[in-house]
Amino acid sequence: MAGKDVYDDDREAIGWVKRVLEYITMIPGFEEELKKDPKGTLDKYGFPLTPEDVALSHTDPDDPMRLVAVYPESKGKLYADFVNRKIRTVAKTRDDCTPSEPKFQNWRQRQMDRCLLDLGPQNMMIIHTPLTFELANGCSVGCEFCGLNAGPLRGLFRYTDENAALWKDILARAKEMFGSAAGEGTLYFGTEPLDNPDYEHFKDDYFKEFDNLPQITTAVSTRNIERLKPLIKELNEDGRFIYRFSILSQDMFKQICEAFTPEELALVELLPQYDEAPGNHFADVGRNEGRTGKEAISGTISCVSGFLINMCTRTVTLTTPTWADDEHPEGMIILAKEEFTDAEDLFDKIGRMIKENMKVTLEPDDIIYAPPYLNVVQKEDDLYVESDRGSALVIREKNGEALVKKVFELAKQGCYTRREIVTEIVNDTKVPAIQSQYLFFMINRLWKKGILSVKEG
Ligand code: SF4
Repeated sequence: MAGKDVYDDDREAIGWVKRVLEYITMIPGFEEELKKDPKGTLDKYGFPLTPEDVALSHTDPDDPMRLVAVYPESKGKLYADFVNRKIRTVAKTRDDCTPSEPKFQNWRQRQMDRCLLDLGPQNMMIIHTPLTFELANGCSVGCEFCGLNAGPLRGLFRYTDENAALWKDILARAKEMFGSAAGEGTLYFGTEPLDNPDYEHFKDDYFKEFDNLPQITTAVSTRNIERLKPLIKELNEDGRFIYRFSILSQDMFKQICEAFTPEELALVELLPQYDEAPGNHFADVGRNEGRTGKEAISGTISCVSGFLINMCTRTVTLTTPTWADDEHPEGMIILAKEEFTDAEDLFDKIGRMIKENMKVTLEPDDIIYAPPYLNVVQKEDDLYVESDRGSALVIREKNGEALVKKVFELAKQGCYTRREIVTEIVNDTKVPAIQSQYLFFMINRLWKKGILSVKEG
């Protein structure tokens, strides 16, 4: 996240502009009021800002994601710079998440490439963290929109002497195996971080090992105001990261605004997650699938391409995001799941999962699969693979257009092995004559780019 050296002095102004924008996303009718009478509305709600300070847009034709301050001398410019820097940081964090273990690195890159087509533009905001922890079994909140379909809270991993020793051992071994990327995760996933009364102890150990504050997203901020005060203070002193509060009602938003100043929350994103919030955004996945009746704009809330370790149930899961469907209702592909007894056993099992699931080349008998949302199209001189989810990739296969199309045609059926596809095409007189060796490599290249997959199971 933003470097503290740049934003310390500006944090108050950034916080106030951010709070006006939060009013727009949380309070029905506020935006209309502001449009009708900008100055009167800002004064009425006690915002120490001018209408120029909150005039922001996304009008850069070269970069529609970039936030632009309409008045470059206003406080809006500070806020726009802050947000634009935050967006750029996603790409850096994604790089920082690159594990040092070569096979894992290769596999994660392939998943990121696959997700470019599988998830479309949403993939730009996913960091594909290689290692994430859960410190509870289930979640006490039970949000009706839960994209991970978290079950009720059934247990907690407390900070006993024995558990603390296991935790520190796992962190140290993770760093040894994956490098600093192991410290880019979170201590929650399908869990609520503040459910665990010992969260702070685990977080402190994590910080000591990796010099990184694990990000928090909490849906129970109002239940934990006093507990959050030192956590937010620490976040602001560090200045490199962001936290998130899921806001579940207008009343909750108002309580948070009363409990924390805009400056205190400059590094905390408030997510409007209740139906009447004008800016609400829910992923159409998990318990929320089909609930709102709106068209799905994102298909997963998972950001893990790697290992998810539940300390409470002592399980490790190898997973990567995908657009939710009947086969993957939580928007996650689960490749393997194992129980472990101690740190040594855990990393033996992780080593085995890497060996069994992260091959670097295809086997002749792998069943090759082209997902239904992909299509091969020729546009002028270039051949593209286009995704129904709003993204596309150029395929560079010199003079190979007809062959790529034929490979896709067969792979779409999801029942042919790599060897069978090659044989079929070599024997097909309607496609240009080709050496089987070339085709074997072409299929491998398309797989390595995340375009073709190996059929699961
Ligand atoms: S969204 Fe988060 S807080 Fe809500 S039920 Fe799911 S895991 Fe728990």
